[in-house]
Amino acid sequence: MKEIKCEVIRDLLPLYEDNAASEATKELVRKHLADCPECREELRKMRVPVSLPVDEDTQQVLDKIRARREQRARNKRIAIISAVSAVMLIVLFCLWYTRPRSWTNLVRTEEAASVFASLTNMRPYFGEGKIPSDWDYWEFWVLDEVDGDGPAAQLILDALSKGSYRASLGNLRNYTPFPQDYVNGKSACSLHLSMFTQEHQAFISVGLDSLGQMTVYTSWDTTPGFFVYQTDSALFDTLAAVIQEYGEYQE
Ligand SMILES: [Zn+2]
Repeated sequence: MKEIKCEVIRDLLPLYEDNAASEATKELVRKHLADCPECREELRKMRVPVSLPVDEDTQQVLDKIRARREQRARNKRIAIISAVSAVMLIVLFCLWYTRPRSWTNLVRTEEAASVFASLTNMRPYFGEGKIPSDWDYWEFWVLDEVDGDGPAAQLILDALSKGSYRASLGNLRNYTPFPQDYVNGKSACSLHLSMFTQEHQAFISVGLDSLGQMTVYTSWDTTPGFFVYQTDSALFDTLAAVIQEYGEYQE
């Protein structure tokens, strides 16, 4: 015989389940449950997790939100990967473009049938009433057109072929509609070489200053124009010495 009505026990079950009932109540419920399969079933049902049924419309909206969130995450990943790849490509290109090159690589010939060279040493004038581009003192040597097989030309070609040249990134402007300006050196000492090549039946024009900044013009290039290279300033010293030794000092 049951001492307490099932109705009362079922009212107590939530408290019992939440462990919010007093010891006496819990004892009471335990005893009842031992004898009453119906109330045990009721407690079992209470323990089954509640899942609210989601209607179809809500499910569709949730699916759409999830899909859009995933798409956004995917787009973001693609954008990051693209940006990183683009930066890496640019860096690799710059490294490749400014790699050390040989003289032959620059002008695509090894010979010169004739060489003309001049060396200019300019000292700025600091007096009053003159604009900064005025020079008050010039030293000028000319190595008039000499045979490419002669000793002076050989020394010049030898020095050039031993040099290493890094292209300036500014050269890339040559490939745009804006023509590159002729860079005439940053230094007051500069030399100029004009070499005729049989191979191309044209002149190579070279400007070099004492800081090692070089401009090279070859008319047979796919994009004719002055290209700027950085080389060792020791090359200037070597070439200047040859011009001074074999050339004429101009009074
Ligand atoms: Zn019961």
